[in-house]
Amino acid sequence: MKTLFDFNFKNKKALVRVDFNVPLDENFNVTDVNRIEGAKPTIDKILADGGSVILMSHLGRPKGVEEKYSLKHIVSKTEEVLGVQVKFASDCIGSVAEQAAADLKPGEVLLLENLRFYKEEEAGDVDFSKKLASLGNIYVNDAFGTAHRAHASTTIIAQFFPKDKCFGTLLAKEIESLNKVLKDSEKPVTAILGGSKVSSKITVIENILDKVDHMIIGGGMTFTFVKALGGKVGDSICEDDKMQMALDILHLAKEKNVHIHIPVDVVAADAFSNDANTKIVDVREIPDGWQGLDAGPKSLENFKEVIMNSKTILWNGPLGVFEMESFAKGTITLGNYIAEATANGAFSLVGGGDSVAAVKQFGLEPKMSYVSTGGGAMLEMLEGRTLPGIAAILS
Ligand code: AMP
Repeated sequence: MKTLFDFNFKNKKALVRVDFNVPLDENFNVTDVNRIEGAKPTIDKILADGGSVILMSHLGRPKGVEEKYSLKHIVSKTEEVLGVQVKFASDCIGSVAEQAAADLKPGEVLLLENLRFYKEEEAGDVDFSKKLASLGNIYVNDAFGTAHRAHASTTIIAQFFPKDKCFGTLLAKEIESLNKVLKDSEKPVTAILGGSKVSSKITVIENILDKVDHMIIGGGMTFTFVKALGGKVGDSICEDDKMQMALDILHLAKEKNVHIHIPVDVVAADAFSNDANTKIVDVREIPDGWQGLDAGPKSLENFKEVIMNSKTILWNGPLGVFEMESFAKGTITLGNYIAEATANGAFSLVGGGDSVAAVKQFGLEPKMSYVSTGGGAMLEMLEGRTLPGIAAILS
C-alpha cells in the first residue's frame, strides 16, 4: 500500500483530494472542523518535506456554480486549523487554477474552488480529470468519504499519475483499521450490528460471517429475527418479507461456527415517542400496541460478557432509537462496554453512519480505537466491495 511516507515531496506540487464537505451555518461559518483537522497530518507532511499543496474538494450538492457552495467560505477556518496561509483559486480548472498552481512555492497551500461546480466531476469525465491532473506532480487521495464514488477527482484522475499516487494518512488509517478487523484480526472477533432494518445490512452480515466469532444483532433488526423464530413482536419494526433471510443467516452462522446473540428482553413502548409509557418485556412476548425500542437489561448483561471477552470489536448501528433519551440507554451502555474492552487492550472500530453519530453524541469517540469518517464508504467496505477510489491508487 503506497502511502505518503513513500514519497519525498521536496519541490513537488501535491494534488490532494480532501473531504472538506463541512457544515456551514447561515452566515457561512464552519460549524465543525473535524474534516479539516483530519487532513492536517497529510498536509503537514507534504509541507515539512518542502513541497506545496493543492487542495481539491467538493462542498454540498450544487447545481452548477452556486455562491453558497463556494469553498471560499472555508478559507479562513482552514488557515486557522492548518496554521498556514491558504490561497484560493476561484476555479478548479482553466487559466485561473493553472496560474495559481504555477505561482505556488514550496511551503504554500492552495485551495481550489468546489469541484462539483462542474458536472464533469461526478460524471467521472476524463478530460476534466486530465485538466485537474495537469496542476500537480503527485496525486494524493485523503478523502475516505467519497472513496466509494468513481468521480473525476477521487478515481479517474489517478490514471494520470501511474507511479506518483498514494493514500493520504487519513485514508490509509481507514484501510488499516478495517484490515485490523476483517483481515489481520486478533481473535475472538465480535461484530455488533444494529440499526433499523435487516434489508440494509444483509450484505454486511453475509460478508463478515466468515470473519467473526460472535455477532450481536440489535436495534430494529432484532424483531425480524425474533418473529422468524416464532416470537410475538407486537408493533415493533419488522420486515416480514425478510424473515426467511433471517433464518438463512442463523443457519449459515451455525455452519460457520459463529455465535449469534440477539436481545432477550427489550424496552417496549406504547408509542414511538420519548414520552411513551415503557416497560421491560421478554423479546418474544411483546404485547400488541407495544413496540421494542431499545435493548433491555438482561440483553445488555449478555452482550457485556461477549464484548469483554473480545479482542477485536466492530460496531455498526445503534441498539435502539438512541435519538430519543428514553431509548438511548442500550446504545450508551454498549458504547461504554466497548470503551472498557478497548481500555483493556481490544481493538475497536466504529463505522458506518448512525453508530458514529451516537459515539460522538455520547462523548465516547476518544475511547474507541478508531471511528471511521465515511458512512457509505465504510458500509461498502464492510460489504466486501473494493472502493473505486482505493482501487485507483492500488492499480
Ligand atoms: P441504520 O441507518 O440502519 O443504521 O439505522 C439507524 C436507525 O435505526 C436509528 O435512527 C435508530 O433510531 C433506528 N433504530 C434502532 N433501533 C430501533 C428500533 N428498535 N425500532 C425502530 N428503529 C430503531
